[in-house]
Amino acid sequence: MTQKKVKIALDLPLFQLYDYIWSEELLNHHPKVGMLVEVEFGRKKIAGFVIDEKVEGEKLGKWELKQVISVAPLEPISKEQLRLCKFAAKYYLKPIGEVLFTTLPTEWKKASNWPRLQKQQIKQKSEKETIDIDEKVNQGRELNVEQQIALEELKKVSNEKKYKNLLLRGITGSGKTAVYLRWIEEIIQDSESQVLILVPEINLTPQLEVELKKIFSKNTVVVMHSHLTPAQRNESFWKAKEGVAQLVVGTRLAIMAPIKNLKAIIVDEENDASYKQQEGMRYSARDLAIWRGSDLKIPVLLTSATPSCETWQKVLDKKITSLNLNQRAKKGAQNAQVIIVEAKKEIKKGQNEKILADIVKKRIIETGEKGYQSIIFINRRGYAPILSCQSCNWKFKCQQCSSYMVLHKKDTINHKQMMQCHHCGLIEWPPEKCPECGNQDLKDVGSGTQKIEDYLEKTFPSQELIRIDADSSRKKGEASKLFERIHTGKAQLIVGTQMITKGHDFEKVSTIVVLDVDKSLYSYDFRAEEKLFAQLVQVAGRAGRSEQEMAPVIFIQTEFPEHPIFQAIKENQIEAYLNYILEQRKQLGLPPYSYQALVVTEGKKLEDCINSLNMLKRDLTNSLDQKEVKLNDVVPRQLVKLAGKERAQLLIESKDRLKLQNKLEQALDLIELEKKQNRTLRTYIERDPTSF
Ligand code: ADP
Ligand code: ZN
Ligand code: ZN
Repeated sequence: MTQKKVKIALDLPLFQLYDYIWSEELLNHHPKVGMLVEVEFGRKKIAGFVIDEKVEGEKLGKWELKQVISVAPLEPISKEQLRLCKFAAKYYLKPIGEVLFTTLPTEWKKASNWPRLQKQQIKQKSEKETIDIDEKVNQGRELNVEQQIALEELKKVSNEKKYKNLLLRGITGSGKTAVYLRWIEEIIQDSESQVLILVPEINLTPQLEVELKKIFSKNTVVVMHSHLTPAQRNESFWKAKEGVAQLVVGTRLAIMAPIKNLKAIIVDEENDASYKQQEGMRYSARDLAIWRGSDLKIPVLLTSATPSCETWQKVLDKKITSLNLNQRAKKGAQNAQVIIVEAKKEIKKGQNEKILADIVKKRIIETGEKGYQSIIFINRRGYAPILSCQSCNWKFKCQQCSSYMVLHKKDTINHKQMMQCHHCGLIEWPPEKCPECGNQDLKDVGSGTQKIEDYLEKTFPSQELIRIDADSSRKKGEASKLFERIHTGKAQLIVGTQMITKGHDFEKVSTIVVLDVDKSLYSYDFRAEEKLFAQLVQVAGRAGRSEQEMAPVIFIQTEFPEHPIFQAIKENQIEAYLNYILEQRKQLGLPPYSYQALVVTEGKKLEDCINSLNMLKRDLTNSLDQKEVKLNDVVPRQLVKLAGKERAQLLIESKDRLKLQNKLEQALDLIELEKKQNRTLRTYIERDPTSF
């Protein structure tokens, strides 16, 4: 009887690998690293991956090991994938088993699903691709000179068949997408080759998917994001893995997907915050894309109007080749004039009614009259961020988080105003009177999209108004209906959160008003300014996308008109401003001039969290590397309490990535040890954190 011993990484948050017996008679397979199998663990049957196999046949009698129960009808995970997962597990300090399972649709975790999933795949294999050749559009258009130069460079790089990191930089509408689509076309002429495009948001994907399917009608395009049905996900997974899909388009999770013959990776709008996963394995899809590209020796193209500081530093260091598009691609498209409106001067305080300055109001009326559209951008949903008592200053707080609850307008279900926590989702009803002093005069402070909506309705009664935010587009298909009303010109006035600034190409927008930016100017988050800058540039790109008789204008209302960020936006000084932010980071020793990691402890009592982290800090303190690895003070997190849990953090920094890695591995060992003794606290490590 041929029996072997195999090491299995289980679908559990455990670092340990477990030994099992592999019986070839029973399983009908030789064991291979990367195979998905079913085993018994405790009393449960769970899935796992074979990580290692050893032939130690004779001694098997002595082991009291359990047998591998069955093998999944799936090719073993490829060597390339295994390398990617091993890197991610090491870098993000996660068990390899957990990481390996991020490469599969979750349905594969259950062995009872395997026969059904296999059947689905066989069915797909026999179905022929339906091709709609008439739909081919858009391809005859000539690229402009800058676009051609960029495309030539890209072609050169992909022909060299080696790793290279490139940045395609240009404002929205400068024709970046047009360039990389041509590049893809070139690459996938070889019917074996595949390309991965990462995009930031889910609401961008349907649009891009339709477009891609039109352009690449001869090739198979699949999408990957978290809103697919299990069957759709399984289909995309299989087609990417088998090399059937030449184009894989997805959100951050797609970076872990198996792709048989990957020849290039594109990360669209690389600076977008959504590339960072905020739970479980807290990875950056952009960073993993770069790693995967260098491992596979293929080009990785990032695109952006306002590259992240991390990327921009690499451009300055010549580690990334930057290709620039300096003009708007479309004929007649024009850059908007930026007007900074000093909010204090223009809008008298206390007058809640006066949300917009007079010149802004005048312009909106004119815009409607001339048949154009106006967008009011405010990055906060709900009616008002705070409900407060005017006499004793009581404020409505979330019971589960250290934050205020947001007042929401009457909704269609309850016909009542409600209070919602934007951190944990808790919903409550506003009280009739102040619970502290009995005062009935409760006041909503500040504005969200809903309050602005009310105000605009009153102020511009003749203009058709729509609101676009996560609340108004929650129902499936609702967002595209709303966008349709903008495209067809039905709506003249649009109020919305950043949802309106992404991807969509609005022809008739001539006026944009940006509200409530000041909170980002003096924030505890050192990335807030970088994010605001990117947002403003993106918002500005929404105006003047096509030939208009009315020159496009953007108003930014602020109390700090002198802030250099506004000057930069006005004069379109993107490069200079990126340099300026980088210089600040350099002087303060902040990323990208250092590397950071957070150790976070969550528990019932803040004190326990702080004590536990202080103990960890003491154990990590080592006179040898004190200069190179900085252990900061243990402090409560900015949002101390989240969903009922108190949170504290220890920030670890170093200029040396390897030294930081070593320190974190040391920390991980201590955390795992502590876990065995104390089960009331939960501690995790986050590399390259983007929010504190
Ligand atoms: P970006 O990705 O930089 O936002 P796109 O590639 O989406 O820009 O191009 C913006 C708009 O300009 C699109 O409507 C696109 O069809 C058009 N466009 C792109 N390149 C050209 C070109 N060379 N000539 C005319 N129009 C173009
Ligand atoms: Zn009160
Ligand atoms: Zn809450």
